[in-house]
Formats: sequence, structure tokens, C-alpha cells
Amino acid sequence: MDRRTFLTALGLGGATVVVSCSSDDSASTGDSTAGSTTTAISPNVSTPASPLTSDPFGLGVASGDPLPTSVILWTRLLTELEEPVDVKWEIAADEAFDDVVAAGIVSAEPTWAHSVHLDATDLDPDTEYWYRFSSADYTSPIGRTRTMPADDASPDQLRLGFASCQDFTEGYYAAHRAMAADRLDLVFFLGDYIYESASNESSLRQVPGGECQTLDDYRVRYATYTGDTDLQASRAACPWVVTWDDHEVENNYAGLVDDGGLDDAAFLARRAAAYQAYYEHQPLRLDPPEGADWRIYRTVRFGGLAEFFVLDGRQYRTDQACNARLDAIVGRSGCAAELDDETRTMLGTDQESWLSDGLGGSDAQWKVLAQQTVMSALVLGDIVLNVDQWDGYPAARDRLLRFIGDNEISDVVVLTGDIHSAGAGDLAPSSPDGTRTPVAVEFVGTSITSGSLVDIVPGGAALVTPDKFPGIAYLNVTNHGYGRCTVTPDEWRTEFVVVDSVDTADAPTRVDATCVTSAGASSVTKLS
Ligand code: FE
Ligand code: CA
Repeated sequence: MDRRTFLTALGLGGATVVVSCSSDDSASTGDSTAGSTTTAISPNVSTPASPLTSDPFGLGVASGDPLPTSVILWTRLLTELEEPVDVKWEIAADEAFDDVVAAGIVSAEPTWAHSVHLDATDLDPDTEYWYRFSSADYTSPIGRTRTMPADDASPDQLRLGFASCQDFTEGYYAAHRAMAADRLDLVFFLGDYIYESASNESSLRQVPGGECQTLDDYRVRYATYTGDTDLQASRAACPWVVTWDDHEVENNYAGLVDDGGLDDAAFLARRAAAYQAYYEHQPLRLDPPEGADWRIYRTVRFGGLAEFFVLDGRQYRTDQACNARLDAIVGRSGCAAELDDETRTMLGTDQESWLSDGLGGSDAQWKVLAQQTVMSALVLGDIVLNVDQWDGYPAARDRLLRFIGDNEISDVVVLTGDIHSAGAGDLAPSSPDGTRTPVAVEFVGTSITSGSLVDIVPGGAALVTPDKFPGIAYLNVTNHGYGRCTVTPDEWRTEFVVVDSVDTADAPTRVDATCVTSAGASSVTKLS
């Protein structure tokens, strides 16, 4: 018996459904010190009066971190008010809101930039819903969301998107418009939602302010990005599962080490500000951050078909080897000892063991790492192309891949962003004689807009062709777009969707390549 049938049986169905909703996730640890609180609960609740005098919903709506019976509904009010504002939320079984299944009043707090993170609970599994917010005379756009199948269900298909790197100053979000039109089950956003740096005269689109340093700076930057209507359409189209990379704080930061020479205390304050603004603008099922330490790594599950391990490869990592100096990286001449240091870590000790416990214990078919930086080896001759990615953390990569191989964990897929290029290949731990025994596959999504290799180095595509890298089946270092995956018990199919141009919001899209891995195989085939 599902919830609504149960309530109807008790005479509580229809207009008097009672659900309890709270921004606090009962499974989370610790007290939530702030965030949204909610009262009153009935589909017929009235829109509250509030002191708002202009439309506060310019950032749209989003949903995220779905479970089988609940999903986080997000909005943020744009208002100068310095007091809490009551907002009505509604979730319905139909787009016309004729069948509202739950509603209530939530208080949007100025401490959290009037953001709302409402946990809509007691929903039916594997079900599509629509939601909206209202306050005073204003009503938000409508969002579409869905719950996940029950943990023990055996869904026959999952359609997901993955995207990253949407530098607002470098282009328009035609890719988001296309992803919204796909009406996917889930979208994974893998980092660089904002870029912290200032725009300049040659930028295609301007952002206000200089490089983000303070909470206000980051809030304004998120508002500029999220004000984009194509991005809003994408966030309103299905639940998102987000993680961050470096630019949500600062280029190439690593743990407590920044790129610009701030001392630890100053950088910690900046990181705390950036993390808070991230919380305020994302549909996260997390307690708000308290300071600069904030655990965001977590899992999401799509029945028995897929379990997603959403990683944080920034907060706990060792600093880039040899300060990523070019002379140290070319030929590894001055840096081999540091690069190969066994103690170098991408995820930190706690997250590493959480991940191996999770991978080892998962009964889902596809075990998916949704994460930031490229795991495949991209070494050209004796040049490590980028020591910010897993190539700069070879011992940590080997620990992970050997664990997968030694424990014969099958159907491990890594989804990656960061590098502004698309690619697909298999993943193998290193071996003394150089033989490769793949244990997993990786799909790397290109950027929504951020500069690709070819944008930066015209003609660069000729330098990095797939044949130069063992295990790589596909590379596209030119175009922008996103990844679109169709996942079944038999295969994982990734279509690399690209936009012809980021110079206009209505640029058409096309599928540049389709790559497939079959269940039980740790290999990628490029179909077209
Ligand atoms: Fe990026
Ligand atoms: Ca990045």
C-alpha cells in the first residue's frame, strides 16, 4: 500500500493529506543550525502574506538528491529584505497542479540568502512530480522532478545527463536548453558551476565584480549564473545531483592550499564563504556548512540498477605535486619522488575508505563514481599533461583501481568533468611491465561553455588524438556540450551531445559520438 492509498484508507486522502516535511534530513548527523524550517501542511494551505514587493523568483527552482520517497526542492528568493520570508511550497502529481499531494509553508532565512531546501517526503517511488513556490503575489516557475525507484526495485532503464564547466563569460547555455528538452531522470553536475574570476573586455558575457573573495561576491556570482534562463530550464527539468570542483572556490585549490598565496586562515575564510554560497544555490540534501569543513560526498541510488558515489576531489586532496611546475612535470625530472609519494591523496583517507566500503558492499549493478577530474592516464611521451587530475595522484588512483580489480567489482563507471573535452576509455591500474588490465570505464563530459583545448590552442586537436593514449576510445577536444546516458541491465550507452557554437543560446545540438560498455565488460566501444 502506498502512502496515498494508506491515507485515503484512513480517511485522510484528497484534500487533507497530512505529511511532515522538514529541511532536516533525519538520516543526517548533527543539528542543523539554520536553513529553512517549515510549518503547516495541507494541500490547501494559502499563499502567505509577506513583505515582498517585487518578484523574488528570478533564480528559478531546482530539485535534487532524490530518494525513493523524497526529494529536495530548492529556490532562493532575490530580495533585499533582512528578515525571514514565508514561502508556500507545493508538490503535485500533475503539471496543472490539480492533484497537489503536499504543500506547506517554509521560512526562507536571510542567514542563508533566503534559500529554501525543502525535503518533500512521503512521496511514491519512481514517480514524476511537479513543484512550485509562492509568496505574497508572486509564484515561481514550475519544476519537474521524480523520485527514485525503491532500493530493491529492478528498473529496466535510467536516462541521465552529466555536465560541468559552464563559464558564463565564455558562452551561452544552448547545451542546457537541449538537456532540459531531454526530460532526463537525473542530471549530474560535476563541478565548475561558477568561475570565480572576473570577466574582461573580450568576454562574451560580463559578470559583475572582480574575483570572488567574500560571501557577498560568491552570492552575486551564483545569482548571475543562475539568472540564465536556459540554466534554469535545465535545473527545473529533473532532479540534479551536484558536486563541486575547484572554481566554486578558486582555480586549482587543493585542501587548504590556494593558488594565490593567501595564508591558511585567509584561505579558510574564503573557502567557508564559497562553500556557504554553494549550499545556498544548490538543491542539496545536506545540513548547511558550518565553516570551511563540509562533507558533501554522498550516494544516490536508482533502485538496483545503479548506485552513484558522488565524490569530493578538492577538499581533502594533497597539493599538486611540485606546485605543478612545468619543468617538474615534463619528463617528471624534478618531481618523480613527489608524484609517486604513496601518501598523496585525491579524496583523503576517510573518503577513500568510505568509497571502498561502498563499492565493495554495493548490490547495485552499475557502480558509478560521479566526480571531478580525469582518471584516465593522459601522458604524452614523457609529459604528464595535467597534474591537477588523477595523473598527479598515481598512488591514490592505483589504490582505487586495484581495490576494484582485486575484489572483482564489476560494472564500475566513472563520470568526469573538469577538462573541457569529451572522452571515453577504460581504466587500468599501473603494472611493472606496462601491461594493462582494465577494471572500469570512464566517460568524460566536455564543458557546457568553458574554453576547450582548441579554443585555447587552435590546431590543438592534432596533438591529442585517441591513438596516443592507451585505453582511450574517443576524444573530442573541440566542442562543448554534455553527456547523455541510457543505462540498462545489459549496457551503458553514452551519447556525447555537442553544440555547434556557444556564441548563441539557440545553437543546435548533435550527437558527436556514441560509446558503449556492456555489462560485465571493462571496455568501451565507440559505435559512431
Ligand atoms: Fe572547468
Ligand atoms: Ca576544474
